[in-house]
Amino acid sequence: MPILLLGGWVLYSVLKLRLGGIDSGSRPKDFRENFVAGKPLTAATRNIRVSRASRISGFLVLSSTIAATLALSAFIPRHAAAANSAPPVAPKQVIIDTDPGTDDALAILLALNSPELNVRAITVVPGNVTAQLGLENALKLVSLAKRCDIPVAAGAQHPLFQKLITAEFWHGANGMANVEMPPTQCTVDNRWAPDVIIQTIHAAPHEITLVPIGPLTNIALAVLKDPTIVPLVKEVVIMGGSISGGNVNAVAEANIYGDPEAAQIVFQAGWRLTMVGSDVGERTPFTGKQVEELSKTHGPENDFVTSVLTYLVALSKKYGVDGTAMYDPLAVGAVIDPEVVETKPMQVSVETRGDFTRGETVANRRNAVERNVPHDGRLWIEALDEVKPNVQVAVGSNAERFSRLFISRIQGK
Ligand code: CA
Repeated sequence: MPILLLGGWVLYSVLKLRLGGIDSGSRPKDFRENFVAGKPLTAATRNIRVSRASRISGFLVLSSTIAATLALSAFIPRHAAAANSAPPVAPKQVIIDTDPGTDDALAILLALNSPELNVRAITVVPGNVTAQLGLENALKLVSLAKRCDIPVAAGAQHPLFQKLITAEFWHGANGMANVEMPPTQCTVDNRWAPDVIIQTIHAAPHEITLVPIGPLTNIALAVLKDPTIVPLVKEVVIMGGSISGGNVNAVAEANIYGDPEAAQIVFQAGWRLTMVGSDVGERTPFTGKQVEELSKTHGPENDFVTSVLTYLVALSKKYGVDGTAMYDPLAVGAVIDPEVVETKPMQVSVETRGDFTRGETVANRRNAVERNVPHDGRLWIEALDEVKPNVQVAVGSNAERFSRLFISRIQGK
């Protein structure tokens, strides 16, 4: 707009200058009067009119061209810039189901500081710590982030069919790396967590992304209570499982091992499910150097995260590992920015029996099985049958991209 005004001013000035020149010069008086009044000109002024008119029209063309060029030069880059910048994207509506837990705390604070996400609820499940301690920690975390507006609800008190296994061994006696947190200013939502999940999904059909970063008990209970939520969920992105060895034993990852029956219900429900497993989390470590970078900035959340990560990096070092695996934060990171993980579609089942494999996420890497048919008292392989993938399995991560994302969101908060 300023350029258009400038062009208009140039045009006006040129005209004024030329007509003013006629006024102030020695031209016959009737030229100005007749030109302005549109009257027929005398023979004496006709030649002047022709030459003046042609010069004026020349200036008109010239100044119009200048104005148009200036206007276009201002418009084109702005138009190109508008075409290059992505249109604003509405934040993803997420429910975080969590057992906080150190890495849960990091994941929750990452989510709460990311404009790409709108955290609609935090539901608490027992796992890393008891349901009661997990609830207290979740309330302290939302309070630390000054987000008492987010509903925090308690759900299951134990796994579906087995005893609860807690992990203070890794997460500290308080589940928060033994870091003292300020008392919460927030209050619990009195609804049962699976009901919060069900109600939130029905209130926003096809919009909710479930982000379970603990055992899958609450999610399974929600599906069992109201299976109609399944097609109404946008997607499910879990931290859990592994297709290349476990972190509990040879094959099982802790969240799945914590409630395999619940996990099998969630894996077979039929919704779009992405699995960010412990194997990929372990290939996405947060190192002492990165903690040092985060320690240079300050704020209540920044300082808390630095303390937790300092504890976790030291703990990993004790067991000979450089850097702490960003299990739960990577799953949240994959919701914020899907580019941080590489996924492949696979058919995955959760082993609920097995002498050595209970809790394993058994992934068919080639999505095919042999068809065996009885023949001559034995089984013959007759064909290869395709199986349908039910999970997008994370098989790799961009650790650098993720750590940059994480640090940038926590710095100074
Ligand atoms: Ca967790």
